[in-house]
Amino acid sequence: MPEESKQATNAIVAALPTREGRRFAALCQPTPLKRGDILCQPNQSLEKAYFPTSGVMSLAMVLGSRPPLELGLIGRDGMLGATLSLDILAAPMRAVVQVEGTALVMPSAQLHQELRASQRLRDAVHHYQYRLMMQTLQTAACLHFHEIEPRLARWLLLVQELSLTDNIHFTHTLLSHALGVRRSGVTIAAGSLQRRGLISYNRGEIRIIDRAGLEIAACECHTALNNKYRALFG
Ligand SMILES: [Zn+2]
Repeated sequence: MPEESKQATNAIVAALPTREGRRFAALCQPTPLKRGDILCQPNQSLEKAYFPTSGVMSLAMVLGSRPPLELGLIGRDGMLGATLSLDILAAPMRAVVQVEGTALVMPSAQLHQELRASQRLRDAVHHYQYRLMMQTLQTAACLHFHEIEPRLARWLLLVQELSLTDNIHFTHTLLSHALGVRRSGVTIAAGSLQRRGLISYNRGEIRIIDRAGLEIAACECHTALNNKYRALFG
């Protein structure tokens, strides 16, 4: 993979000055993200930081024996391991790959050194940490107040933005964790969006047909969050 394209495809790396971004990307190992791979567990030390250039990771809370509950998504807009910039080594949530892709991976100890050496890198990671906090707060409220179907529409819009693909491969189990519902709830909500002509829904794949329609079908959280990002970060 050419260094220039590696630099351009993750927002945190792209936020660095050109030479610094190239140097940083060259220090990372491009690594495939396979759907269902668990990248970290709550309270375990983060051994590596992941900067996705494609694909999407799901951040989920795990309470006892209950199914994991997704509270956030990480794509090429950010990174897994932003808490390392706060000198916190323990992962706050479980991270699992929802959509396959590739990430630039750097050992946590090395990232610590890079963070100490670069104010620009610290700024980029801190900004993303705040963005991710906003996303998890919005998602917590969304899970409580909004119905499954508009939440699925919101989830599909966000995954499409992060993965830059209209065809989203999924498993019912991961999608039920994403929406906090049983697998049958996923089937009903996806079937309804399909009947409205917004998606096509086959076994293991959802294809977005009408993004504008999906934006209307989604709950207010998608637009609200994007408006907050724009107000804060431009
Ligand atoms: Zn919502």
